[in-house]
Amino acid sequence: MFGRNKNKPGSSNLAANLRDERLKFEVIVNTIEDGVMLIDNQGDIQLFNPGAAKITGWASAEACGLNTKSVIKLVDSKGLAYEDNVNPLLQVFQQGLAIRENNAQLLTKSDKKIPLSLHVTPLIGENAMVNAAVVVFRDVAEEKAEEQRRADFISTASHEMRTPVAAIEGYLALALNPKVANVDAKARDYLEKAHISTQHLGQLFQDLLTSAKAEDGRLSSRPVVVEMSTYLEQTANDLKFSAEKKGLFMEFVNGSSNTIDARTSSISSRVVQPMYYTFVDPDRLREVVTNLFDNAVKYTDEGKISIGLTGDGDVVQFYVRDTGPGIPAEDVPHLFQKFYRVDNSATRTIGGTGLGLFICRKIVELYNGRIWLESDLGKGSTFFINFPRLTPQQAADKQAAEAGSTELAPISSLASS
Ligand code: ADP
Repeated sequence: MFGRNKNKPGSSNLAANLRDERLKFEVIVNTIEDGVMLIDNQGDIQLFNPGAAKITGWASAEACGLNTKSVIKLVDSKGLAYEDNVNPLLQVFQQGLAIRENNAQLLTKSDKKIPLSLHVTPLIGENAMVNAAVVVFRDVAEEKAEEQRRADFISTASHEMRTPVAAIEGYLALALNPKVANVDAKARDYLEKAHISTQHLGQLFQDLLTSAKAEDGRLSSRPVVVEMSTYLEQTANDLKFSAEKKGLFMEFVNGSSNTIDARTSSISSRVVQPMYYTFVDPDRLREVVTNLFDNAVKYTDEGKISIGLTGDGDVVQFYVRDTGPGIPAEDVPHLFQKFYRVDNSATRTIGGTGLGLFICRKIVELYNGRIWLESDLGKGSTFFINFPRLTPQQAADKQAAEAGSTELAPISSLASS
């Protein structure tokens, strides 16, 4: 019915039981709505249930015996075919681990694209080799459409609500301006509180809008070649004031000085700082650095905030470090999720939306970067970001390519743009 190696049921009791077992198995596999597929270690399909046939458009009898790559054609959101090294149906044989994939799209037999959720489980033999893999997959078009509707609603609602909130904030600012209005001390106190809350509400709508855009790929981004040493030094300078206002010391630590022995520090001034080129949108990156920095200031009562830059041949790495309360280990894996806030006395009293780090992660991922943190409870936190590093030649080539279509400034000035 669904496989080509169907055993003929025997006549003994054992065989009858076996037949019953088979019957149960067949009923389940044939009735289930999800696609179920068994692939052997040659990549050939050995079982293809009716659910799989319905989703893919391939009849079970047609698909069985064919190579999985010719039946299950996976493409990414841009419509590009999955390379072998990221294709879960092939990778399962290399890795020997179960793989879940929620962002793939399937090209059906009639070349229709449908979003798919896949779960691939290896069947490991006595020789510790992956002998086969079971693939369970589902058409998630409905769920994706529902997600999209939710994101659209959040986008529209926050966009619409930002305007009246901005107006209220403006009027409260006017009422608090002694040149415009006279208010007594008590009323001023109330108005100041209302002003702070309105600012918070405005920030919440702004963050909601940005996170909805980040989720459905509508975040505008104009990446250019950025030289990170100049860029970060400039950004750190701009941010310094808010740290110093709170009595916190602020420093910028540039790459290679870390590697120099303290005893030979006199040499450091003669060290030529490497150029850390990367390809990002400087405005989006500023949002990330500012968010990490604002958090560091917000949650740190005393000590210092450091912004640092380092890297190797492939990677540009920078960090924002503080001497604040730190983050409990159990919260660390959740910190970059939407609306996640650490529930402790230190942060409960401090306002926030829990969206900042989620937005940071989304922006960093736009440029194939990675964000993570290390934290020592009671001692402080360090948020790290890695971006792929461009060689000076790659940076120059990219710039030349951009200059072909638009007039661009030289690399050095882009760095601080
Ligand atoms: P928000 O700060 O608006 O709540 P974020 O997404 O920026 O949202 O941060 C999520 C949570 O992570 C914060 O609520 C706070 O509990 C914790 N956090 C972030 N940065 C720090 C930091 N530097 N030190 C201590 N806790 C932090």
